[in-house]
Amino acid sequence: MAERKLMSDVLRTLYRWTNRRSVRWAAAVGLLIAVVCLASPPVSTFRFHSVCVQCGTLKATTAWQVSGSRMTLYSQSTESESALSRVLREAGLVQPHEHRWDFTSGRGNGIRCALGYGRYFARAARSDTFADMVAMLHDRGEFTFRDRILSVSRRQDELHIAYEDLVLYPVDDSMDSAELQTWIDEQSAQIDFWERVAAAQAQRDRGGAPVKSAVNVLY
Ligand SMILES: [Zn+2]
Repeated sequence: MAERKLMSDVLRTLYRWTNRRSVRWAAAVGLLIAVVCLASPPVSTFRFHSVCVQCGTLKATTAWQVSGSRMTLYSQSTESESALSRVLREAGLVQPHEHRWDFTSGRGNGIRCALGYGRYFARAARSDTFADMVAMLHDRGEFTFRDRILSVSRRQDELHIAYEDLVLYPVDDSMDSAELQTWIDEQSAQIDFWERVAAAQAQRDRGGAPVKSAVNVLY
């Protein structure tokens, strides 16, 4: 008997409590938030890659962002050495520095594909062929041409095509001095050609063409 009375008291209190307007409102708001969260999670991840334009170190980042916005709540990055950054470090060609990151590519949080101009240098940084070429020129004392191809690999205009030509074939490091000089002359002529193309393009752009955005985004 006493147990039944206790039960009915509890039920009555619960009924009175849930019947309060404030509790009903809180429940309704909670339900609405739950529905919205289920329909589209409030936080999404955007994963992207960057390269240090000075030393070629690569960085992969995951950013947790408010869904549908670029507002980052938290991010986590991992840095890794590239073929080129290793050669530059071992040859003593980069001094201790604060990395200067250039965006290469990314996806997530509603973006299918975001591409930055850093992708040109990132490709050079990852290339074993290019790293071997820089190491060989450094070892053989060809510092002028070594610095020229490093400069080409960092270009973000038409001159990056000269880089594509340069790494088509792995360099033969058994070349004697005369053969090496011939190879350098041939490559220099190619780079000269693309430098003229890039200069002409820059002149045309100055004529009023729209300035390219640093990052292209596909939604
Ligand atoms: Zn760096």
